[in-house]
Amino acid sequence: MCFLKILEERILKDGYVLGKDILKVDRFLNHQVDVGLLNEIGKAFYAYFKDHGINKILTIEASGIAIAAITAQYFDNVPVVFAKKFDSVNADPDSYETSVYSFTKNRDYSVRVSKKFIHPGDRVLILDDFLAQGRAAAGLIDLVRQGGGEVHGVGIVIEKSFQDGKTYVSSLGVDVHSLARIRAFIDGTPIFEES
Ligand code: 5GP
Repeated sequence: MCFLKILEERILKDGYVLGKDILKVDRFLNHQVDVGLLNEIGKAFYAYFKDHGINKILTIEASGIAIAAITAQYFDNVPVVFAKKFDSVNADPDSYETSVYSFTKNRDYSVRVSKKFIHPGDRVLILDDFLAQGRAAAGLIDLVRQGGGEVHGVGIVIEKSFQDGKTYVSSLGVDVHSLARIRAFIDGTPIFEES
């Protein structure tokens, strides 16, 4: 069975829907973690982005870290940087900072990366667990660009394509590659886009 089908079946088996638009995957992706599955996720991102000369992977704490760390091994162990979340915007001269609206928490928060870790000429792959409205990914793109780096793509494990994140991130001139794409939740069940 191809990996995409394995991922979709795992989402159907172990994921559950909260309210009308939140999918919980804490049994295998972002609380308890299935490392074997993450390895396959890492391989899938490598297969898609391998020709971009990626020299750094950027993600956001906490859920992106495991995904990024495993994926980095397929990119010849490039460094993984994770942006940190703060409750309020608070200028820090040693960091690049941007404001992100949280879809799950319904509020803005500040995201920072130390200037030590983004440089002009960096070729950055951004990874995250979910794509909803695209704000987290857009914030990470902003941080890379503040540091003079180039974003060579955004890799997402689960995209909810009924939300507008892909359109928003694509409008920033960045290629988005999502592994599983959910077009709807019907009676609490995720319905996937045709692959
Ligand atoms: P966006 O910034 O694209 O609106 O939302 C993406 C971020 O919100 C991700 O970093 C993820 O942590 C969180 N998120 C968005 N939708 C979901 C969801 O359905 N389930 C979970 N577990 N997290 C989500």
